[in-house]
Amino acid sequence: MSALDTAAAVRAGERSAVDILDEHLARIARRDGEIHAFNLVTEGLARSQAESVDAAVAEGRDPGPLAGVPVAVKDNTCTRGIPTTCSSRILEGWLPPYDATVIERLGSAGAIIIGKTNLDEFAMGSSTENSAFGPSRNPHDVTKVPGGSSGGSAAAVAAGFAPLAIGSDTGGSVRQPASLCGVVGVKPTYGVVSRYGLVAFASSLDQIGPFATSIADAAVLLEVIGGHDPRDSTSIPEPAPSLLDVLGRGVDGMRVGVITELAGGPGGVEGIAPDVVARTRQAVAALEAAGARVSEISVPSAILGLSAYYLIAPAEASSNLSRYDGVRYGLRVDAPTTGEMNIASRSAGFGDEVKRRIMLGTYALSAGYYDAFYGKALKVRTLIMRDFAAAYEQVDVLVSPTSPTTAFGFGDKTADPMAMYVNDVCTIPSNLSGHPAISIPFGVGDDGMPIGVQILGPAQSEPTIFTVATVLEDVAAKGGAQ
Ligand code: GLN
Repeated sequence: MSALDTAAAVRAGERSAVDILDEHLARIARRDGEIHAFNLVTEGLARSQAESVDAAVAEGRDPGPLAGVPVAVKDNTCTRGIPTTCSSRILEGWLPPYDATVIERLGSAGAIIIGKTNLDEFAMGSSTENSAFGPSRNPHDVTKVPGGSSGGSAAAVAAGFAPLAIGSDTGGSVRQPASLCGVVGVKPTYGVVSRYGLVAFASSLDQIGPFATSIADAAVLLEVIGGHDPRDSTSIPEPAPSLLDVLGRGVDGMRVGVITELAGGPGGVEGIAPDVVARTRQAVAALEAAGARVSEISVPSAILGLSAYYLIAPAEASSNLSRYDGVRYGLRVDAPTTGEMNIASRSAGFGDEVKRRIMLGTYALSAGYYDAFYGKALKVRTLIMRDFAAAYEQVDVLVSPTSPTTAFGFGDKTADPMAMYVNDVCTIPSNLSGHPAISIPFGVGDDGMPIGVQILGPAQSEPTIFTVATVLEDVAAKGGAQ
């Protein structure tokens, strides 16, 4: 049952939130041993939230637009008094003293926080294989990764453990796992969803976004969690975008551009699999058939996004992660001096990928290298913004694959960091520009695994990209993605 139908049934008193919770807990009990979507199932919190939703309905009060809907939350989102680990040993034993804004807003909307989902440590990765607690598995084929870093959230929705989930997307971490698990994933415009209480990875890129099994469900979740928050200085001072009202507008007359560099052709990004290219083209043809005016648009600097990202994101991470020093949070390994204690704690607490990023970022920011690396990456970021601005003078939205391939096997890419980084080549440009993008499931690949198509738009174009995605959702539902 969709989140919207569930909430409607609970608000009308036809279903009890406690029953719905129990159904989902039973599914988790049956299958999460194998999937490992969750680091923690928050049954106690969920039950008390469900009971108050049922009590509100019994008293004739409306619990809100997500009444009784279980939501799985990525474990880098602070939950008061409930472990928030970022799938890292360094946060062992830490209990956040406050709730993230998204947690508060979910609660006020009647949602039920059902658990904290697994991720690549500190959201660094594309497969959940960097989790200190072991990887999550793809519910479509448990020999494959679910993608990452929000792999647990994507797997939870794909496995039916929760109709909705929250992830964070710094370079693709909502959209790529959504694509690999066959669900909808959204990276909103930077500043639409408050980052208050999201553990920082790369603050100028991080953005919280929804997972759902339908566009309408993703829309209601974004409406609930979006909108201005004075506790995040980068929050856009406007209400959340209104999405549910516009989903059915259609694409007649809309200008749709296919990003040349991400279309699998010569001169573009290499390594985009032919089956992924074929599905993307099929999606574009479907939009054309629905009345859109389609053209190819070059975004030349898109190809440089990956290199710029792997300087900017580690640079910001090296600064953000300096707070984990064994003094203020989590794990401490004692040693004779403070400096040695810091080193011992961080050596024991951080995994290899996090260490690699801290070293890369520290190097890129160090005297003598700052201009050559970090400064240059910032210039590339500006070029990407200019190229997108030029493209959006000609088209309303852009289309590309979400991920270059379907889900891959465990261990396939762990030996070579570059092979893993390339996963985000199509998603990173939107993080660098701050623009919104959505991944929508559109058929399967040669291996039978889900493929996602990405719709990108300019800042605050969520209503438009959701409209386009709805058209593709209808086409796929009618068998047009086979
Ligand atoms: N896979 C990318 C990385 O490892 C993106 C991660 C993310 O969006 N959090 O940095």
